[in-house]
Amino acid sequence: MFILVVNAGSSSLKYQLFEMTKEEVLAKGLCERIGIDGKITHTNLQTGEKFSKEVAMPTHNEATRAMIDALLDAQYGVIKDMSDISAIGHRVVQGGPWITKPTLVTDEAIEDLKKCVVLAPLHTPPHLQGIEGCKAVMPNTPMVLVIDTSFHATIPEYASTFPIDINVSRKHHIKRYGAHGTSHRYVAQECAKWLDKPVEETKIVTCHLGNGSSISAVKGGKVVDTSMGFTPLDGIIMGSRCGAIDPAVVPYVMEKENIPVDKIGDWMNKKCGLLGVSGVSSDLRDVHAAIAEGNKDAKLAFDILVYEIKKFVGAYAAAMNGVDAVVFTAGIGENDHEVRFHSLKDMEYLGIKVDAEKNLSVRSLPAPCDISADGSAVRVFVIPTNEELVIARDTKEVLDSLK
Ligand code: AMP
Repeated sequence: MFILVVNAGSSSLKYQLFEMTKEEVLAKGLCERIGIDGKITHTNLQTGEKFSKEVAMPTHNEATRAMIDALLDAQYGVIKDMSDISAIGHRVVQGGPWITKPTLVTDEAIEDLKKCVVLAPLHTPPHLQGIEGCKAVMPNTPMVLVIDTSFHATIPEYASTFPIDINVSRKHHIKRYGAHGTSHRYVAQECAKWLDKPVEETKIVTCHLGNGSSISAVKGGKVVDTSMGFTPLDGIIMGSRCGAIDPAVVPYVMEKENIPVDKIGDWMNKKCGLLGVSGVSSDLRDVHAAIAEGNKDAKLAFDILVYEIKKFVGAYAAAMNGVDAVVFTAGIGENDHEVRFHSLKDMEYLGIKVDAEKNLSVRSLPAPCDISADGSAVRVFVIPTNEELVIARDTKEVLDSLK
């Protein structure tokens, strides 16, 4: 069975074609500059052959057409006929209170997704365009919405409700939705396989640390808390996002710096975080380079990052009445040994001890990599995330349930 996974952004569309018996990616690609001019880059992973060409993409419909043409191409393609694709799984960033599990695309599901525009105004319209594009080219292929927020739907009300006027939260659907749910789910499931316990008995802190970062407490396979909130701005310091700050800082900065209400979101999302503190870059590699040159603000940005990770690990150990494992994933989590080491330093009281040498050699060890020291009561893993595989699996499951 072939499942196509699509991740549609405002001017881009990423795709991967899975063969589900072996859960193998046969081909992948990226359509970019949609609405501007258009370019597709496609790789046949069976042969390693790759091409890149310019194709006019005024809308997502043409991008979808280009993707299908690439998948069917005599030289670079991997399927013979469009009907070989059993279903398409769409990555959806925000399902709000309306879509909380993988859902077959129907007129009703589309109406629910349209309601999410108010909660995720940047992501939802491109998702809708991506779905529309696939529908135009493959009208008879079932499609499934796989929602990033759905893994967090199990967070208890006391952890997902912000302490503001309850009538205001209810009226505007304000609550902790979290983000990166598909990634947290994947690494928590992988981690559970490596802990010699039934998943119902596991307590795992998953740290998805990338340009955007979130940390989750996963107890018995279910999320009980997560660091991102109503939007992906909450939680720890990120590349250029501030994370959680005293809310009173926001109107104060608006007044003192003359920032109007329609620009303050940009300030919090694009001018803060590692970039704002270091004054150097939102990319942690650049921050490290600046630290090596003696930049004190860069060091401060790094210190904030590892301190905030440590605080969440401690808080989530408290929330779950213990912790069996801490997992690191995504760009920083998978690659940055200094972040892993320093964020879990001096946590022996919780039973967390990282093996410095294993931590340094993560890339040369087979994944998932256990970097805990001998005798560490809590296991520490580095697990590369695979959101596309989760989307493919969920899509297959919905499809199978229709039979
Ligand atoms: P992501 O959003 O998951 O792509 O992660 C982006 C972040 O990962 C950036 O802050 C990068 O600096 C960081 N990153 C990516 N590769 C490396 C690496 N090899 N070493 C350290 N940090 C890295």
